[in-house]
Amino acid sequence: MPGTLFIVAAPSGAGKTSLVKALLEREPDIALSISHTTRPPRPGEIDGRHYHYCSRSEFEQLVRQNAFLEHAVVFGNRYGTSRAAVEAQLASGHDVLLEIDFQGAEQVRARMTCSSIFILPPSREELLRRLHLRGQDSEAEIARRTREARAEMLHHTEFDYLVVNDDFETALNDLRAIVTSQRLRRIQQTRRHAALIADLLKEA
Ligand code: 5GP
Repeated sequence: MPGTLFIVAAPSGAGKTSLVKALLEREPDIALSISHTTRPPRPGEIDGRHYHYCSRSEFEQLVRQNAFLEHAVVFGNRYGTSRAAVEAQLASGHDVLLEIDFQGAEQVRARMTCSSIFILPPSREELLRRLHLRGQDSEAEIARRTREARAEMLHHTEFDYLVVNDDFETALNDLRAIVTSQRLRRIQQTRRHAALIADLLKEA
């Protein structure tokens, strides 16, 4: 596939969503994969932009049709990545970014070549502070997310890259450096610069 597939995972409270949003603004050639989910939309979320919201039976139908590159249950809701959408973007030469959890990352890694990045919060205190700041979730939900955050972080060892989100701009630059290094890999570059290389290698 001409494009590169990136996976970004993190516990809630690591600042993943803001970092990915800023990365996509600076790197417009990366397409964000819009997942399907059975979770109801939160206030302000838009169907087709944040997620494709669907019922449990619609989701199950898509699983049966093998429409997902990966799918998992996260916080009691089902989430999945559309296989066709990802493959079409990669085939047309675009890089694609998946914002998914460690279970999904494991499935994608088993099926495709990809670069996976795990984002860590800068400290335990900061993680707890950010989990409380979210506002839209109840205390019970926050307690559950704190446990789930630790469970997610236990899997950091499975990822290719680790980024610590202490200073936002530094973490963003780290992400951009990872993207750039992938794009400079010889296999990508020989494809991109095939005409140049052929020309340079012409016999005199
Ligand atoms: P939220 O509901 O807060 O948007 O997302 C909850 C968690 O689900 C996050 O950790 C997010 O990365 C994960 N997630 C979102 N979409 C997908 C997906 O398509 N597949 C998997 N495996 N996880 C996802």
